[in-house]
Amino acid sequence: MRTIAIVMDTSTLLRCFSLLLSNKTLTSTGETESLYTPESVIKEVKKTTSKTLLMAISSRITVIAPNISTVKNVEEKALKFGVFRRLSRTDIDVIALAVDLSHRYEKVYIASEDYTIQNLGMHLGFEILAIGRKIRYIISNSKKCKNCGFEYSYDMERCPQCSSTEYIKVVKKRKI
Ligand SMILES: [Zn+2]
Repeated sequence: MRTIAIVMDTSTLLRCFSLLLSNKTLTSTGETESLYTPESVIKEVKKTTSKTLLMAISSRITVIAPNISTVKNVEEKALKFGVFRRLSRTDIDVIALAVDLSHRYEKVYIASEDYTIQNLGMHLGFEILAIGRKIRYIISNSKKCKNCGFEYSYDMERCPQCSSTEYIKVVKKRKI
């Protein structure tokens, strides 16, 4: 039996308590699931959840922090795809932890109800688990120069053709 890792974000973790307490699996793959979450998620969950409930699920979920270098790397990817401003530090931690775990597991899922996390996660090649809503499109952002019409990467500050900083945000959707 293979083992898969699932990194949970706050939105999915909050919806999954009964599932976690009942020892049910999140996927239907039949594989052993190791659940992970970063410390920042637990801090968010603590605000709305009782200590007893947190204790009850603590045996099923491993809390670890992502590597700082991985966090930086994911931030750069978020800038590149034009979604950096829509991601919180906790969101970045979730994705970075998935990247770290992908070196140890054959398959890593990101469990999130958040479209921006799902989108960046898919760009980085992860499978997405969602209890409620799941995106149907992968979205890519780029910049189109207002001056010369050249289309360039979202993380670039100015047009590589004419150096203008004036741009229109171009959003492309690709059906999954
Ligand atoms: Zn230009």
